[in-house]
Amino acid sequence: MTSSPIKLGIVGVGKIVRDQHLPAVAKDGNYQLTAAASRHGKVDGIANYPSIEAILAAEPSLEAASLCMPPQFRYDAARTALEARKHVFLEKPPGATVSEVEHLKTLAEKNGVSLFASWHSRYAPAVEAARAFLASARLTSAAINWKEDVRRWHPNQEWIWEPGGFGVFDPGINALSIATHILPAMFITSAVLDFPENRAAPVAAHVAFRTSTGLPVTMELDWLQTGPQIWDIVAETDKGRMVLSGGGAMLAVDGKTIHDEPEAEYPMLYKRFAEIVRAGTSDVDLAPLQHVADAFMLGKRNVVEAFFD
Ligand code: NAP
Repeated sequence: MTSSPIKLGIVGVGKIVRDQHLPAVAKDGNYQLTAAASRHGKVDGIANYPSIEAILAAEPSLEAASLCMPPQFRYDAARTALEARKHVFLEKPPGATVSEVEHLKTLAEKNGVSLFASWHSRYAPAVEAARAFLASARLTSAAINWKEDVRRWHPNQEWIWEPGGFGVFDPGINALSIATHILPAMFITSAVLDFPENRAAPVAAHVAFRTSTGLPVTMELDWLQTGPQIWDIVAETDKGRMVLSGGGAMLAVDGKTIHDEPEAEYPMLYKRFAEIVRAGTSDVDLAPLQHVADAFMLGKRNVVEAFFD
């Protein structure tokens, strides 16, 4: 492919498309936003269609599609796009199951197009600095604390409480996308998942991992956190206590800030997508999704008080 702008379609026009995808694409010269497909949502100034099938039929020159609907509905759209030989950008989490995304990888390869399983939190500003710090230190333990208010961040999102919506693992997988990038390989040893009695997905999770060298890593996910919101990864090391906070935005060691800069997660995701499209490769790391699957597989189900919006 040449360096001319990639003709892009956006599918599933909702909160994240408006908040992040449209502003990021508008500023990136690698793309020409050509059309959108959504049952209700519309994007001003471009052609809008009701479905992925309709956009593909009407816009044969489209080269790539960003699929931003909830994960339960992403596989069919991705399959349709890949079989039409379009490059595909998957919002996180890349699918509702590990095996369906594995199949998408095979389809991308077979059709000679790129597949990108995007993990926006991996592109938070201090993540690479945390990775470099941990590579230079001896880790003794780590703790992931991801505590936010679901009523504030996910009002009226019913899909998130349905099977395949992941409940508190929808934000929790962001923590895992960072942890799997900066910590050594790790495996879940136990998990307790708190399911509200009226919901099909957990509102909290208490997870224990051990690294391949036997070090303990804990993960506390809570969706009922009011007041300050906490998105931290803390690592105890021989070079001090590392705190990556703000969802990967700030890094401190022994209380001293060593990295703090404005976030640019989605611009970086689109830069990466253009890179892999132009290089003719894919970027699909399923480690965060596998951990979520393992937590549901190994986790004890604990029924807690009903949740109402
Ligand atoms: P959303 O606004 O609830 O949904 C996005 C759009 O998907 C909806 O507007 C809807 O558009 C379409 N959709 C909903 N149900 C569908 C169905 N059954 N079949 C096909 N399309 C359907 O969700 P969101 O917050 O944008 O999140 C979408 C994805 O982005 C999720 O995987 C989420 O984890 C990820 N994400 C969200 C955030 C955030 O802050 N919200 C941040 C990062 C990543 P139409 O009704 O017009 O078809």
